[in-house]
Amino acid sequence: MIVAMQETATEEQIQQVVEHLIEMGFSVHRSTGARQTVVAAVGARVDFDIRNLEVLSGVEHVHRISAPYKLAGRSFRPAGTIVEFANGLKIGGEQVVVIAGPCSVESREQLFATAERVAKAGARALRGGAFKPRSSPYSFQGLGLEALKLLREAGDRFGLLVVSEVMEISQIAIMLPFVDIFQVGARNMQNFNLLRELGKVKKPVLLKRGIAATFEELLLSAEYIMAGGNYNVILCERGIRTFETYTRNTLDISAIPIIHKLSHLPMASDPSHGTGIRDKVAPMARASVAAGADVLLIEVHHDPDKALSDGAQSLYPDQFSELMDQLRIIAPAVGRTIA
Ligand code: PEP
Ligand code: MN
Repeated sequence: MIVAMQETATEEQIQQVVEHLIEMGFSVHRSTGARQTVVAAVGARVDFDIRNLEVLSGVEHVHRISAPYKLAGRSFRPAGTIVEFANGLKIGGEQVVVIAGPCSVESREQLFATAERVAKAGARALRGGAFKPRSSPYSFQGLGLEALKLLREAGDRFGLLVVSEVMEISQIAIMLPFVDIFQVGARNMQNFNLLRELGKVKKPVLLKRGIAATFEELLLSAEYIMAGGNYNVILCERGIRTFETYTRNTLDISAIPIIHKLSHLPMASDPSHGTGIRDKVAPMARASVAAGADVLLIEVHHDPDKALSDGAQSLYPDQFSELMDQLRIIAPAVGRTIA
């Protein structure tokens, strides 16, 4: 950490900063230039709030050099994390993995019809909400346990892994026998108690970026899971809230290369929630693969016009199939293949 003192800072003020840093356990190196004194603090503390320094008199600027997250940071595993599954599928390696399926599990007929089509087109995992975080309490809330059983059955029938969203701690045990990946939704990215519990689980977690979360906040949320011992975390850009109202959210494609630089964790992109508009999903999915996404999470419904949630952003099976063909052409251009 670097503390730049104001040009007018007195010796007393500089000493106050130095003493404060020493008290916090840092080793301190002071450098006095012609006009300004700079204090460098070196230490392993990650729980330090730099605002405590910023408010001291005589301080002009405080710059943190090391990231506040350690396990999620790229330097923890410079070569990158590969999440491996019992069926041999790897997330985070050379191959791009596509997860597809309906927003919510609505019925056996809906799930099986959709799962069959996405499997045929090349998806490797089936998504589907059993517990739904709806903005309105009057909207469809999901089929719960019944949906989980259907997901497992459809996943096994069509050779797909199963991904579903966990909204609260009590659902973890219920979901454990049925899912291969726990999804944490945007609304729960900072549900720290839930993240901590998922740290104790032996299955991977797909952690979505909150609607107004910075990269640092996303990585600190991943740190919560990893600190509990579960290193199999996949991060996901799913659109953030901006001033633009044309799209449901603004898919931040730059999050993909930025997170790859900051973290070793695999990075997913969800162009369905990222745009909210069916005909914008494929272009943003293509762009995501071109930008280096390790995973795509795409909503597909066998009959989206009748969907109980997110029909407007769900692809028709034929559109999904066409998109997969395009991705197989794009991926090699950036040194990847579609799993
Ligand atoms: C979903 O994947 O259906 C979902 C609710 O996503 P998000 O948390 O990104 O809104
Ligand atoms: Mn959805």
